Amino acid sequence: MVEMARRMLPEGVLFEALCETGVCLPDAVQLLTPCTLGNGRIHVAHVGRYALALYDKTTGEGARVFVDAKKLAAWPEIHGWFLKLKPKAEQDSDRLLAEIEGAGTGLLGARRIAVDINRITKMKIGPVRLCPKCGEAYPASDGGLCGGCLGRLPYA
Ligand SMILES: [Zn+2]
Repeated sequence: MVEMARRMLPEGVLFEALCETGVCLPDAVQLLTPCTLGNGRIHVAHVGRYALALYDKTTGEGARVFVDAKKLAAWPEIHGWFLKLKPKAEQDSDRLLAEIEGAGTGLLGARRIAVDINRITKMKIGPVRLCPKCGEAYPASDGGLCGGCLGRLPYA
């Protein structure tokens, strides 16, 4: 999926990635491109679609690649697995992997898109202050106490 989207971008363009799910896809983008969650060049929109877009960081122009549900019928094991039609115990993992390898990019769809870069949330921390309760630094925009002291963390 990453390679297919990348091939639709002009050579040498500085690009970012938008993943439409946090499941698996950000890992692939991090392994195969210079974009990482840590450097802020991967954005995750949690809409749960198995799709990603790579786009020019400046113009927003790029390509979106997705699993095309209309093409899945040709690969019954992938079809059952991807749409969760079969319990895991009934899945044939050897056959599934063979189908995935055989399908290659054949089960994907791709089209050109333009990302509205004004709607991309930037990782800007802004001014920092020390929390009066725990003494640790946190973004001042969060308010009078840090998120940890406001009970936003799952520590028991
Ligand atoms: Zn605190």
